[in-house]
Amino acid sequence: MPEGSGEHVSVFETANAQFDRAAEVMELDGEMRTLLKSPFREMQVEIPLRRDNGTLSLYRGYRVQFNGARGPFKGGIRYHQDVDMDEVRGLAALMTWKTALVNIPFGGGKGGVNVNVKEINRFELERLTRKFISRIGHILGPYRDIPAPDMNTNAQVMAWIMDEYSGRHGYSPAAVTGKPIALGGSAGREAATGRGVVMVFEEVARREGWDPRQMTAAVQGFGNVGSHAARFLSEIGVKVLAVSDVSGAYFSEKGIGVSRVWSHNARNGSLEGFDEGEKISNDELLALKVDVLVPAALGGVLHKNSAGRVKARVVLEAANAPVTDAGGKVLEGNGAYLIPDILANSGGVTVSYFEWVQNIQQFTWDEERVNAELAKVMARATTQVWELAKQRSVSMRTAAFMIAIERVAEAERLRGI
Ligand code: GLU
Repeated sequence: MPEGSGEHVSVFETANAQFDRAAEVMELDGEMRTLLKSPFREMQVEIPLRRDNGTLSLYRGYRVQFNGARGPFKGGIRYHQDVDMDEVRGLAALMTWKTALVNIPFGGGKGGVNVNVKEINRFELERLTRKFISRIGHILGPYRDIPAPDMNTNAQVMAWIMDEYSGRHGYSPAAVTGKPIALGGSAGREAATGRGVVMVFEEVARREGWDPRQMTAAVQGFGNVGSHAARFLSEIGVKVLAVSDVSGAYFSEKGIGVSRVWSHNARNGSLEGFDEGEKISNDELLALKVDVLVPAALGGVLHKNSAGRVKARVVLEAANAPVTDAGGKVLEGNGAYLIPDILANSGGVTVSYFEWVQNIQQFTWDEERVNAELAKVMARATTQVWELAKQRSVSMRTAAFMIAIERVAEAERLRGI
């Protein structure tokens, strides 16, 4: 859909616009551009679910394997009522650039089911997951395509995926990452995306001469990514003035107690009823006067219209594709400093790689090792992006895409068509 009202913008178009800008600077040839922008394989399946009340619900499941030149396809599976092929394809493209940017030996993929998880119970969720995997299982595997958690999926869902896959192929922990620790999951995986977000921010801050202890932030979204990002930001001294989830946003000029938000969320399963600070809307959160805005929820929240209201000078993209192409232009036009998603949220897939390595070697790392290796990868990728951006006078996003595209293009050339 064209970007007019700012209501819905195609994730794939966003990813392609970002790709094109980098390809232009790199003077990438036309053939390679076409090749790298086209998905390797797209699968759509019907998922019939017999509900506990006896009725039948029909869902659609998707898996897009975007590019596998550098290794098995890798990327999460999301459960959300609005999931469609375009979104999954766009997110699969972003995974391709993300894994190449952090230089882990994976390609990019993504999956999803158009289910509203609030409308089904746990037993139905398990049946739905198993049915989905039974229908796409033949294109998955530790050396083919490795799913992971994404929006509204978690370690339990990954456990069912592993079980379903292993039932056909024999015990295969490396077929999926983000598993519970008891089933071969990695220490540190759950917090990894949020931890990586803050590691990237710290590295950028150090290079730019910002003092995190003098900075304020607003975090949109309190799921796996936002909750950990808020916690790590406050640990490095950033004052978190606002947090939010679907129930709304909670703002205090003096700062919100992140650990109190955590306990409220753990007790109630949502931020609803959190009584610290002032309750505002998610839209108002985006326009707060803070130093760092952290969109950590849905994609496309900073579009043509909402971007103009942003007052933060740094946008730390913890979510996938939170900024549309037109939104990005508005933000950059207003002088905002964008730390792009494929860098900022790459900690999750990086620790997924460590999990896969541990499963294959059947050797477990402790959390210190995981975090230390993650820190190395985040610092290296951030440094490369930051330096290239300065050198070529391009945005951090364009620099990140340039590095990623170069690596995928080289693998494509070497492997041959
Ligand atoms: N869903 C996460 C992402 O968007 C993690 C993917 C993975 O670990 O494979 O990066």
